[in-house]
Amino acid sequence: MEQPKIIIAIDGFSSCGKSTIAKQLSVALGYKYIDSGAMYRAITLYFLRHSVGFYHHGSVVDALQHVNLSFEYNPDRQASDILLNEENVSLEIREMPVSNKVSEVAAIKEVRLFAVEQQQKMGIMKGIVMDGRDIGTVVFPQAELKVFMTADPAVRVLRRFHELYEKNNQITIDEVRHNLELRDYIDSTREESPLKRAKDAILLDNSNLTPEEQLNKVLGWVQQRTGNLQAAEIG
Ligand code: C5P
Repeated sequence: MEQPKIIIAIDGFSSCGKSTIAKQLSVALGYKYIDSGAMYRAITLYFLRHSVGFYHHGSVVDALQHVNLSFEYNPDRQASDILLNEENVSLEIREMPVSNKVSEVAAIKEVRLFAVEQQQKMGIMKGIVMDGRDIGTVVFPQAELKVFMTADPAVRVLRRFHELYEKNNQITIDEVRHNLELRDYIDSTREESPLKRAKDAILLDNSNLTPEEQLNKVLGWVQQRTGNLQAAEIG
């Protein structure tokens, strides 16, 4: 009997390794992986390019009508690239101009409604792992498995610094630390869908776990959930 497919929601602070585990799971399980943060980043890029006033309701609503987001599987990364109006912006959205503004944009109610509606449609068929800040609380409150990730702040800053330094050797640790602290602050204190642990989310601290250890842990939880579903179906 084929394993039933579930929805896996992964939330947590910035640079906790959410995308690493989400990608590992999608490869191991043959699930679709959606990086919801990439959607907020692509919208931010559009707003920056078109000088959209973040605090002007009419401008935001109008701009969103011109934003078309789609995902395209990239076999080299074993994950999807994001397209903004058909343009692949996967690299540009990781740069500092977008990182410095994305949390402000993601706090706007209309932006969230726009993104969440699309995210929910992607989960209709299940067999999906999505990472972000509100996946277990707002996007998929019915998800069969919810994981809330944390990691030591110093570990997170170093991880993100090494990642960014490969592409830009002008970047400093202080700049990275400041960006992470600011995003975490805005993300967890905003009015609309603040970052918080869903009551039924399992806490995963990966400060001292290797990628393999973390994958095995979460795969164990997936097994439990799909086993329960299978038993209920037979039941
Ligand atoms: O995941 P990543 O760090 O790339 O996300 C960038 C930003 O997008 C976050 O700092 C947060 O402001 C916003 N975000 C969000 N809700 C999500 C995913 C990301 O508000 N589900």
